[in-house]
Amino acid sequence: ETIGANFERIAARFPLRDALIEAAAAPGGDARRWSYQKLNDDVDHLARALLAMGVIKGERIGIWSPNCAEWTILQYATAKIGAVLVNVNPAYRSHELEFVVKQNGMRMLVAAPTDKFSDYVGMAREAARNCPDLREIVFLPGAPELGLITGVPEANHELTYGQLLTRADGVGPSALRDRMAELDPHDAINLQYTSGTTGFPKGATLTHHNILNNGHSIGRLLNYTEHDRVVIPVPFYHCFGMVIGNLNALSFGAATIIPGRGFSASAALEAVQDFGGTSLYGVPTMFIAELALEDFTSYDLSTLRTGVMAGSLCPMEVMRRVIDEMHMVDVAICYGMTETSPVSTMTRAGDTLEQRTSTVGRTMPHLESRIIDPGSGEVVERGVIGELCTRGYSVMQGYWGQPDKTAEAIDAEGWMRTGDLARMDEDGYVVIEGRIKDMVIRGGENIYPREIEEFLFSHPSIQDVQVIGVPDEKYGEELMACIILKPGAPSLTAEDLADYCRGKLAHYKIPRYIDVRESFPMTVSGKVRKVDMRQEAVSRLH
Ligand code: ATP
Ligand code: MG
Repeated sequence: ETIGANFERIAARFPLRDALIEAAAAPGGDARRWSYQKLNDDVDHLARALLAMGVIKGERIGIWSPNCAEWTILQYATAKIGAVLVNVNPAYRSHELEFVVKQNGMRMLVAAPTDKFSDYVGMAREAARNCPDLREIVFLPGAPELGLITGVPEANHELTYGQLLTRADGVGPSALRDRMAELDPHDAINLQYTSGTTGFPKGATLTHHNILNNGHSIGRLLNYTEHDRVVIPVPFYHCFGMVIGNLNALSFGAATIIPGRGFSASAALEAVQDFGGTSLYGVPTMFIAELALEDFTSYDLSTLRTGVMAGSLCPMEVMRRVIDEMHMVDVAICYGMTETSPVSTMTRAGDTLEQRTSTVGRTMPHLESRIIDPGSGEVVERGVIGELCTRGYSVMQGYWGQPDKTAEAIDAEGWMRTGDLARMDEDGYVVIEGRIKDMVIRGGENIYPREIEEFLFSHPSIQDVQVIGVPDEKYGEELMACIILKPGAPSLTAEDLADYCRGKLAHYKIPRYIDVRESFPMTVSGKVRKVDMRQEAVSRLH
């Protein structure tokens, strides 16, 4: 089944149920609501407009926008006509935008303002000037209540969303039927760039089959039905929002709820309360921010029963509070990567608190996991650390336009090398130990920074810590602890830290250098960029 056909089937089954609710942009405003029938009608309208513009199967249409209803409508309209939706990070600015537009030969860019200060219209125009393949720019509605104003078209190739919709008049429903009949579930339908944590983002080419099945099987494990109401504060541009969120919920007849354009802890909890959310998504830091709200106990979260936490490991105390105080009894931890659509392992309802905090659960149905020695490629014994590999329906077609990179990542038997170090216990639960690129080899000794980071967290002055390897003439690499101190805590020297570690960590795991910082360099999806920290450290040490 293609994404468009699946959505039509569900919409016909639950025409009057809520499909999409976008909370008001400002307090006192009205929420925007779509039933399944209305959403399907709006999707068809936009799909016909895109056909009228002459968009052919396989052409790339980019969306550069924070979460809004039009994002979802475009996601399904492109799926119905077989255009490849390119998720462009809303935080990108002109240099990165141009890279993405050029890299995939994008034909149309649909753009919305992300904040009051960035000239998104100017950046989109500059991209169009520098990238001859980019034929149209479409300005999505802004949010005037927030001071976000829609761009005004100045040339023929610039349109507002409303103007684009009027183009549909010339194209009847039968043209759309015909196009849908030409599509195959194994066609590429989505191009998603990785977070760029370890280098420049790579574009993963994903099919209907990859992402629709992955989304749906996550919902099965969460026991979704048409009665669920899923609150999605995570970005749609990332697979967390568009696959674990939209594709999943809308394949069950459930409602998707957008609390706002960007993340706000109070807006997320208000959305749960106002719209009866049964499931809430977030990366661990979002849940930490929600639990830390001064008026946290004043929100009625009694409708919640489940949710998804993903992207990085969750501290046990946070998980306990999410389960007890937010009523998310069946909350799941998901692990995966953009290249695997994304989820490959997940915890299940009934897993213990320990399993939900120290592991990323077991392999998803219809997928395989194995752990290999990264050097020899041999499968290791249970319990031994090696590189996690994933095989099955969710593995991407490849990196767009980068066959060499694809061949490095996916072997001849279809195993995707994740680049993550992990071990698997006898029952199949997987523990993530960190990335191979972050592993430090000091004097021939393999060191996993996460183990040292977890130990250093227990230091009373340390708020956050990242351990990296820096080049060393004698040992090849030496350890550096990059530390953010708790407010008011006295500063620490390398000697203080060594005293703290001595007798508790093996001598070769004791960091030689310390770097006290205000913050860590982060990706937009909330991951620490250790590559940048290594580079900064190297330039400072020399
Ligand atoms: P890039 O590939 O561009 O360097 P990235 O790998 O961060 O960036 P994503 O595809 O967004 O891009 O993230 C996938 C990675 O996130 C995984 O390979 C893994 O390292 C990490 N990850 C995802 N989920 C979890 C989780 N539940 N626990 C720990 N790590 C996770
Ligand atoms: Mg990656």
